Amino acid sequence: MNSFKDIDISIVVPLYNEEAVFDKLIQRIKSVINDTKFSCEVILVNDGSYDTTDTLIQKICKEDIRFTGVLLSRNHGHQLAVSAGLQYVRGKKGAMIIDGDLQDPPELVNQFYDLLLTGYDVIYAVRKNRKESFIKKLAYSSYYRLQKKVSNFNIPIDSGDFSMLSRRVVDTMNIMPEQSRYLRGMRAWVGYKQIAYEYDRDERHAGETKYSWTKLFELAFNGIFNFSDFPVKIITRLGFLTVIFSLIYFSYNIYRKIYYNDVPQGFSATILAIILFSGVQLISLGLIGEYVLRIYNQVRNRPLFIVDSVIQEGKEISK
Ligand code: UDP
Ligand code: MG
Repeated sequence: MNSFKDIDISIVVPLYNEEAVFDKLIQRIKSVINDTKFSCEVILVNDGSYDTTDTLIQKICKEDIRFTGVLLSRNHGHQLAVSAGLQYVRGKKGAMIIDGDLQDPPELVNQFYDLLLTGYDVIYAVRKNRKESFIKKLAYSSYYRLQKKVSNFNIPIDSGDFSMLSRRVVDTMNIMPEQSRYLRGMRAWVGYKQIAYEYDRDERHAGETKYSWTKLFELAFNGIFNFSDFPVKIITRLGFLTVIFSLIYFSYNIYRKIYYNDVPQGFSATILAIILFSGVQLISLGLIGEYVLRIYNQVRNRPLFIVDSVIQEGKEISK
């Protein structure tokens, strides 16, 4: 059996009330890791389930030392459950993140690992098709496109958390202390060489989705606000547009007044005051927003930059 030093890849699986799929999941994972050319550990994170998932995790961890259980004190949400799992990764080469409902085939660990060996730091799975309801598909696809438009850097479209990360990416994500976590954004933010891997997303093996619409919206908000200055910038822009509009309106009214004298007394002054000062207020809000943004960036405390490698005295020093 493998000891701590031998582990190449850790497979992180968040589980929230997944007793219905648990046995099948373990069976699938076991048959994969029994045959890999590299050694794997599996980190099962219990995200405060109220069914028997925690007992099942404890049982398998006692039976098979390749399984590690991280049992959270209560339900923290998918992103935090995965983040907790990543803290316990012992794999020297890195980690793979999969969902516990078998929507992400664990068999792909082999293909992902090959890509890791060829020098990619992040291999992220992209869904070729979605087997979800029409409304959900539409919501996902418009959301990802909006996110791509507004985010400060490129977050790939249609990729979830299913991915393999090199050791250095895991280490970097582990020292990013941000509270509201959007892992697929953080993963893209880290940089290095990243590659998409297209796959067919299976249907959930059993049980129901654990993502309520509220949780989905929360995730979506994190995706926009953690990686985009756009919502703040738009306030200032809107303010300037309003001021410009009020000036045009003002000039037009003066023109009507002089040449046609058909503007009621006091009307334009009132409207102008309302529009102009709304604009001024929007600009002021935008300015305050800029400061808030800076405070946010400072307290979020992400690393300033991440160095891939340094060439010194003619030699490349890997980080
Ligand atoms: N999950 C979790 N905590 C939660 C919600 C979900 O750990 O609060 C886990 C869940 O058990 C599953 C994975 O996250 O392994 C993805 O959840 P789900 O399949 O319900 O999401 P969907 O695929 O419907 O987006
Ligand atoms: Mg699922």
